[in-house]
Amino acid sequence: MAKIEMKTPLVEMDGDEMTRIIWQMIKDELICPYVDLKTEYFDLGLEHRNETDDQVTVDSAEATKRLGVAVKCATITPNAARMEEYDLKQMWKSPNGTIRAMLDGTVFRAPIVVKGIDPVVRNWKRPITIARHAYGDVYKNAEIRVPGAGTAELVFTAEDGTVIREPIHDFAGPGVIQGTHNLDESIESFARSCFEYALSTRQDLWFATKDTISKTYDHRFKDVFADVFEADYREKFEAAGIEYFYTLIDDAVARVMKAEGGFIWACKNYDGDVMSDMLSSAFGSLAMMTSVLVSPHGYFEYEAAHGTVQRHYYKHLKGEETSTNSVATIFAWTGALRKRGELDETPELVDFANHLERATVSTIEAGKMTGDLALITSIENPTKLSTRNFILAVRETFDAEA
Ligand code: NAP
Ligand code: MG
Repeated sequence: MAKIEMKTPLVEMDGDEMTRIIWQMIKDELICPYVDLKTEYFDLGLEHRNETDDQVTVDSAEATKRLGVAVKCATITPNAARMEEYDLKQMWKSPNGTIRAMLDGTVFRAPIVVKGIDPVVRNWKRPITIARHAYGDVYKNAEIRVPGAGTAELVFTAEDGTVIREPIHDFAGPGVIQGTHNLDESIESFARSCFEYALSTRQDLWFATKDTISKTYDHRFKDVFADVFEADYREKFEAAGIEYFYTLIDDAVARVMKAEGGFIWACKNYDGDVMSDMLSSAFGSLAMMTSVLVSPHGYFEYEAAHGTVQRHYYKHLKGEETSTNSVATIFAWTGALRKRGELDETPELVDFANHLERATVSTIEAGKMTGDLALITSIENPTKLSTRNFILAVRETFDAEA
């Protein structure tokens, strides 16, 4: 059978440890036999980042701006132990942080729904995607431990010397104060990423804050979303048959628990931190989550939500058998290939990505899975497969369904 042609290359960001091993297996067994794979390859493995003084990370992000779609393997974020293990010149920054800062995006995470790995919330039938704003609020705060009686004020001094003051509280005794901020520019780019992602996945978008209590701060978020929607997205949403709606955060939480899923939930930074952990554990596991960085300029970077699975890698190095779940990494590849196919108008590539995702899901639904899932599945007598044998089982399913 002729291989599927690609018009434009993907940006391929290779990574570290167990996920690097999985990366190669996925390419060898699940992609290259079927697709004439074109990529611009960047080795973001820690050794090569160290050799290039991390220039390779910057180059890979630049390439993403040029080509539009990237797929990234999990990478080590160095700490003191890694400095020694890899004899590093510097404690290089998190590649994800560097790439996010350059592409200016929002991270969307969605569970991969499989029969037999059941969400603990019974009525959730389809995935719920969290879009987390990644700038400001309590993560960039200033705090004071108030020692005793006194007066607290918010003071803003403009460049021209104009001063705005707002009383906070007259303290009669000790307490605490916190100052937080956000930027119109960052909120707007968050909003645009959410609207773009909703359009590209054809799902409704929900956004919620506490604007009844925070009448200036949270209200600004609500207004920016509404302005961007009216100016640039209302017509596109109507054409796509999807909806944007705003509600209060407590109302959103209540609705999420009763919903069937199949929508995007945009959250302020803190809400997204807390709610994404709740969603991922209620849906099953981090190895069953997709993760994509969407830039407001229309660039997409697909990855797995988990790390490099160091403990399994050390077993692998000792020659012991591993059973590492490759589903999130397979879906990073299919996400990137599908997006490439959509942008290039190559429907065969889109079909291939959909087919590979279906084959992955039905392999698990047939009871063949890695150890992490075998522990939590409701399927009786599941077969626990090794890292490699799971990937080979997916290939068998793929060929059988072709
Ligand atoms: P991790 O790689 O996510 O693994 C933590 C544990 O979760 C594993 O030991 C394993 O549990 C389980 N697990 C995670 N992914 C799994 C999979 N695909 N299949 C089966 N089990 C899985 O987190 P970590 O060990 O804390 O971090 C390792 C390295 O990853 C660190 O250097 C960190 O900097 C990096 N990291 C990178 C990214 C990224 O690039 N996106 C994200 C997070 C962390 P058991 O051992 O119990 O089997
Ligand atoms: Mg968290």
